[in-house]
Amino acid sequence: MSSPGTNSEEDSSSHLPSLSPYPTFLRKLTRKNNWDNPLRDCDPQKASKVFVGTDNVTSVYLVHDDIELRRIAVAMNQYRGSMTEKVDLLPIRPSELDEIGVLPQQTPSDLSCNLAKKLHHDLELDEQAAVALSRVLIEAQREVTRWTTGSVSKALTVSREEGCFSVNPESRSCACGGQR
Ligand SMILES: [Zn+2]
Repeated sequence: MSSPGTNSEEDSSSHLPSLSPYPTFLRKLTRKNNWDNPLRDCDPQKASKVFVGTDNVTSVYLVHDDIELRRIAVAMNQYRGSMTEKVDLLPIRPSELDEIGVLPQQTPSDLSCNLAKKLHHDLELDEQAAVALSRVLIEAQREVTRWTTGSVSKALTVSREEGCFSVNPESRSCACGGQR
């Protein structure tokens, strides 16, 4: 395979990130700095902005291993400008949601990937709960896991071969689960 078409040093890595321990929820960030800066400044109020959703609902995915992580990272780019855009993910442990008394609700996803549909959850977080969660995560020094363009490209190739419906419109059946 050829190397990913990017000159950026940061994005030249095609290493596939791993996350442990599992299971873990993943919140996709618009910008990595939206978490990194408040983490550095120990500012839960500011950090909580990454959880702001419509009607106090925050969308997350629950993954149980590296394979699910890889498939979800790819599926998340379905509606973005480029399928190889970098993906920044903030892990949240189930115990950390217990700690603030939030019960995740399994809900449908608008992604075509069948695994994404299965793993999608809503968190009901009002402003106060979002700050409380941020405080827990800052105390844990939680860092963002970045999928570089190189990593996403590599994972994308695998997902195409697997027939993931998010990336392969011709596919009839997918290793992520399901047929059509
Ligand atoms: Zn899929």
